[in-house]
Amino acid sequence: MNIGQKVLEALKEEITEVEYKRYIRHLTYDVKKSSASFAIFYAPNALVVNWIKNKYSEKISHLFEVLSGSKASVEITLKNIIEKRKSKKVVEIKQGSSLLNPSHSFNNFMVGGSNQFAYAAVKSVSENAGKVYNPLFIYGGVGLGKTHLMQAAGNVFQDEGKTVIYTSVEQFLNDFIRHVRNKTMERFQEKYRKCDVLLIDDVQFLSGKEGIQEEFFHTFEALKGAGKQIILTADKHPKKIGGLEKRLQSRFEWGLVADIQPPELETKIAIIEKKCEINRVKLSKDIVNYIATVIESNVREIEGILSKLHAYSQLMNIDIDLEFTKNILKDQIRESRENLTMDVITQFVAKDLNIKPSEIRSKGRSKNIVYSRRISIYICRELTQNTMPQLAQYFGMKDHTAISHTLRKINELIQNDEDFKVKISELTNKLTSSS
Ligand code: ADP
Ligand code: MG
Repeated sequence: MNIGQKVLEALKEEITEVEYKRYIRHLTYDVKKSSASFAIFYAPNALVVNWIKNKYSEKISHLFEVLSGSKASVEITLKNIIEKRKSKKVVEIKQGSSLLNPSHSFNNFMVGGSNQFAYAAVKSVSENAGKVYNPLFIYGGVGLGKTHLMQAAGNVFQDEGKTVIYTSVEQFLNDFIRHVRNKTMERFQEKYRKCDVLLIDDVQFLSGKEGIQEEFFHTFEALKGAGKQIILTADKHPKKIGGLEKRLQSRFEWGLVADIQPPELETKIAIIEKKCEINRVKLSKDIVNYIATVIESNVREIEGILSKLHAYSQLMNIDIDLEFTKNILKDQIRESRENLTMDVITQFVAKDLNIKPSEIRSKGRSKNIVYSRRISIYICRELTQNTMPQLAQYFGMKDHTAISHTLRKINELIQNDEDFKVKISELTNKLTSSS
């Protein structure tokens, strides 16, 4: 029995027979691709991948460590992903998940007003590598499709036989450290400076890490100088990423900076329908509409719900109807929002806006305080179950009429002040996706 099989056997002991039969039994371990520090398991479809990642990946990592004596990063992935690309030139970084997800394609990406600019930019880059916008910088909130779009371009390049590196700042950093330690820096530089396309996800994590910024700067210069395409994503505009060297910040803006906004209802519906099609889940129109209206903006949350719906309906052998969906969503939302109290929200807003929580709750009238208070009140109203009187009390206002007056004012601002609207959706997004 190989180590992967041992891990699965051990896991069998820890879960119910139904769970085992339904999910774990379908996993296969890739002996050849795996190593002491990297374990790959294949699952037959995306839902099983999701389900196992959510529910068992920690357990699997733990068992792997216990049984093999070494700490490995565990990858659960679709069977055909790796097979399909055996023949292709991909630089695989054997740590974390550095593979391009083949279902992150342009075809699977639903376009609407919120993301059409970013979509058009990435599409154009995918057709003219290194020639139009270099670098292309995409920014926006969590779960809005940045990684998906970036990888869609990566998949196109890869199919053309180009050498594509997709990595996170963390992986880049780890790789760097490893090569420094092994005194193999030439190999590091060879790898990152000689590729055709470099995709770096979530570059806001470069913030404050000077050593790696330096190395990244030189990588950037080498690639850009050689006309190689660079695509970057972040959760905010380069100007707003603190702790970033000036020269990097300015280079990030050299090509094109494109933002992604939270999807409108229409787009959300299209995305849900697409995900259902990909995962072969059948949902009626009213269920799709319901999910689209209840979930604010984070598309990843939508995927979680679809996989949960599917899994429950299979485990319990029931059809998915609206009632059932509502129950599942209630749990999901409660789970993810349970920890969001007015304190948590106010502290989060305060930190982001560089102000004290006590000031937000004070009667202060300065512009900054009023602005922060409005944002906190609005988000508390949206994300917690607190009543108007409770809100009034918390924010030191006279009574619920004062709060409802403020909320009216805020809604007006949301209509007319784009910056205000964006700030609210950015913070809401972060709060609902970090839990
Ligand atoms: P981000 O990198 O911005 O946090 P991701 O690219 O990881 O977000 O997207 C989260 C999930 O939502 C992914 O599975 C992605 O496929 C899906 N998604 C986001 N936007 C869209 C879209 N417009 N059409 C289809 N799927 C989308
Ligand atoms: Mg991402």
